[in-house]
Amino acid sequence: MAGAGVSEPIPFNRPFVSGREVDYLERAIAARDLAGGGEFTRRCQERLREMTGSPLALLSHSATGALEAAMMLAELGPGDEAIMPSFGYPTMATAAVRQGATPVFVEIDPGTLNVDPERVAAAVGERTKAIVAVHYGGLACEMGRLGAIAAERGLALVEDAAHCLLAEQDGRALGAIGDLGAISFHETKNVTSGEGGVLLVNDPALAERAQVIWDKGTNRSQFLRGEVERYTWVDVGSSFGASDLTAAFLLAQLEAAAEVTARRRAIWDRYHRAFEELEREGRAQRPATPPGSVHNGHVYYLVLPSEEIRSVFIERLRAQGIATVFHFVPLHSSPAGQRFGRAEGPLGHTEEMAGRLVRLPLFADLGDAEVERVIDAARAAVLELT
Ligand SMILES: *Cc1c(COP(=O)(O)O)cnc(C)c1O
Repeated sequence: MAGAGVSEPIPFNRPFVSGREVDYLERAIAARDLAGGGEFTRRCQERLREMTGSPLALLSHSATGALEAAMMLAELGPGDEAIMPSFGYPTMATAAVRQGATPVFVEIDPGTLNVDPERVAAAVGERTKAIVAVHYGGLACEMGRLGAIAAERGLALVEDAAHCLLAEQDGRALGAIGDLGAISFHETKNVTSGEGGVLLVNDPALAERAQVIWDKGTNRSQFLRGEVERYTWVDVGSSFGASDLTAAFLLAQLEAAAEVTARRRAIWDRYHRAFEELEREGRAQRPATPPGSVHNGHVYYLVLPSEEIRSVFIERLRAQGIATVFHFVPLHSSPAGQRFGRAEGPLGHTEEMAGRLVRLPLFADLGDAEVERVIDAARAAVLELT
């Protein structure tokens, strides 16, 4: 071993680059096809339909945009409510608030960090219009149970599948199970176009309106198919698409998605084996894989015994050049969550997990030696602190 202090720092994340991005960007530029809807957009959407089994994939500038469109399609309006886990990213809640609706924050299952379906069922009321399922780290929510609750009450089931490209439950792609699903291609996700996302429109009854909402509230897609004489403003909408330059970059990434996912899963599995004993000894909790769920290696985390221990753990690893992070601030306790939303039922698990969870470095070009360095440092810190 080299002398102490000379090891290269290990970042928390390093976005993957396939090497084909520049070639595809050059082709998009040469074709002078730069706005959304060009060849690369079509190819990405086709590939995403194949990857997910969804009948309609609309490429977007972000998963946030896709969630906003989903709330429009679910026809949320003033006085309506959307039930969602408090342990999640803010934009699913903003998407409801922008429609004039109220996000209702409920508890998670402390084993999977996914929304607890019984808490969802208990929160359903007269005003409920939608349920949002967040599949944390590409590990599936109980979609069968959530689907039954939604069907019984005629609610829209929206998947925040931001983490979930190539993750599955019982052979079905996450994001393609509910009525609508949003996947993210942000720099922090498994494959990326810097900023980017896709809306999966799984309910065919929503397809026509989805395209209008996408295309700035116009019937341009019908016009392009020769179904109408001219295109005009027909509904509310926005500019939810991505440019063909973004799509060109993304296609290069989607073509490598299987390879990226396999590498990430291998690292995830290595971490999981390495920390088995810590979990058995009650020193740390590892992610639980729900039955039928096949994840995509998006997040590896440990839940430590207390927030204080987590702070020291992060400090210890930082001192060895290893970056670790945590999230989410529970939405029910965030300033905007308190202003625009409301909590329903107990949220103790959410608060506990948000305070004790720590995410380890995980990206496709993290080398085996670096993985072992993270494992050694994490194990030593946990053994000493617990
Ligand atoms: C990243 C993320 C989003 C937002 O995705 P963008 O593409 O950056 O808009 C939404 N929800 C979850 C759970 C996320 O992790």
